[in-house]
Amino acid sequence: MTESPVLCSIDLDAPGKHVGRLQVPRSSNESGWSNQYVPIVSVARGEGPTALVLGGVHGDEPEGQIAALNLARELRPEHVNGRVTVIPCVSIDASRAYTRLWPSGANMNRSFPGSPTGRPDEQLADFFSTVLFPRSDIVVDMHSGGRTGLCLPWSEMHWVDDAAQRAAMVDGMFHWNTHWCCVYIDIAGTGLLVGEAERQGKIVVSTELGGGGHVTAAIHRLAGSGLRNVLRRFGVIDGEAVTRTDLGLPEQALLMATELDNYLLAPESGLFETLVDLGQRVSVDEPVGRIHFLERPDREPEVIRSKTAGIVCVVRAIATTEQGDNVVVVAREADRSELD
Ligand SMILES: [Zn+2]
Repeated sequence: MTESPVLCSIDLDAPGKHVGRLQVPRSSNESGWSNQYVPIVSVARGEGPTALVLGGVHGDEPEGQIAALNLARELRPEHVNGRVTVIPCVSIDASRAYTRLWPSGANMNRSFPGSPTGRPDEQLADFFSTVLFPRSDIVVDMHSGGRTGLCLPWSEMHWVDDAAQRAAMVDGMFHWNTHWCCVYIDIAGTGLLVGEAERQGKIVVSTELGGGGHVTAAIHRLAGSGLRNVLRRFGVIDGEAVTRTDLGLPEQALLMATELDNYLLAPESGLFETLVDLGQRVSVDEPVGRIHFLERPDREPEVIRSKTAGIVCVVRAIATTEQGDNVVVVAREADRSELD
């Protein structure tokens, strides 16, 4: 097995708080012999579980990056029972550009499990898969819809077959205390970060906290409070975890977006008009959007209809649309007993 070319400047097992960086080999037009730095923060004290907290796998999703930065800055060793490792922004050049993908075109969330001899994104993914995930019990990976998608704010999970792992992931998902929780599938390729962490048996907790290119104060609060509550739930940081009932809120609404028909794709390229709002309940065949044709003012817009009954949980955030782009996701309302 080739050793990872990625360097870590701090000892992730050392007690106390340490701020360092990962260094990924880089050779560019501007600098032939260089490294890309990815900041990493470790806070450790005593025996206890290890949580890996990740933001900014996609650069146009600032919600998780800011929640992770706040956590990394505020966390002290005396708050921790075990280890918290925070990488506030995994895809740092993408965040600088406010784009989903790396400037190289790489989608960090399609680069797993990675390769020590692959592209820089694959080398970084390989470091996660071979160094960071094996030493972690809990992996928190925060996402949103980014610039192109507006999601209901939710915590989420893939279905995993192992009942004990699934029960722990459901527990983590519910303890973000979002109103919506979603079980989803990957319709746009393999190689996801969470998929590799799940394969390694980790308790994976993920989110889609809004999106659309703008973050409200309420979303920032939800990102920060949910992240801390999940870490409390698993005993990694001190304090009692709270439930929605404790907070005087109604129980979570569980959504299942586990069928291809939940994901509606644009039949043609054009200008997308949504006919539905987030959280709206729709029925089968109900029109959810229309594609307009700038070059054909005489042409009727193409109507997109829901294939399933359920709740609108994602709406495309930018109107300019190419054939095959996801424009709306309609998820089925489900009972939490389905997750047993
Ligand atoms: Zn994302």
